[in-house]
Amino acid sequence: MFQKPPPKATEVNDNPSENFSEKLAQTRQLLEQAARDFSPCVQASSLGAEDMAITTLIQQLDLSVHVFVLDTGALHTETLSLLERVQARATKRSSVLVYKPELTAVIDFIRREGQDSIYKTQTLRKECCAIRKLEPLSRALAGQKAWITGLRSEQSTNRAQMQLIEEDFQAGQAITKFSPLMHWTWGDVWHFLRTYSVDYNPLHDEFYPSIGCAPCTRAISMGEDFRAGRWWWEDASAKECGLHQK
Ligand code: SF4
Repeated sequence: MFQKPPPKATEVNDNPSENFSEKLAQTRQLLEQAARDFSPCVQASSLGAEDMAITTLIQQLDLSVHVFVLDTGALHTETLSLLERVQARATKRSSVLVYKPELTAVIDFIRREGQDSIYKTQTLRKECCAIRKLEPLSRALAGQKAWITGLRSEQSTNRAQMQLIEEDFQAGQAITKFSPLMHWTWGDVWHFLRTYSVDYNPLHDEFYPSIGCAPCTRAISMGEDFRAGRWWWEDASAKECGLHQK
């Protein structure tokens, strides 16, 4: 018997706020401000739904803002395939740069602590994040005046305290952080992706709202918190890798 395919994330999640057009206008204005007044500035992309929306807006506005992706060496194949597609569509004014961890540091960590050490203690999990994410992040942000992120306030209590524009400290330097989707809802993000037919990670169709490294990301069930699928074995209050710690 013919079985109806499961609905796509775009169909399930497209639910814009009443004031979505004002939010979109504000986001465009913030991106233009970042590119104009804080050059050089970069977009940090995890290739998640929010970041795909921002990269699309940067290209639509033809801004001189490069995009960087941290390839931790532990990403899903779906994410790596999307990265290839995003690189193929990159423009001269907005190229896509990939930063990887130092191979020797990764090998030393695995030899010393074992392949599954990230599940043993939060200290070891954070050490893995420091090697695979924070050190490459510091190289990606070196010399930049600002960075643009896809953080939204409804993602977590930590993120709810963040602002559209705030002063940050990364890679031993002060840097301005723009989070132009801060007030967007999940429904706003998907309304944008659907309206502009934006490519996205197919894992979103399989109930992965937040996508990170494969060993540390799982699908969520109905009613679970947005970030329940990230580091699910840890205390909910510690669900950050250090990139956006307040
Ligand atoms: S998210 Fe998991 S695999 Fe990725 S860097 Fe952090 S601990 Fe390591």
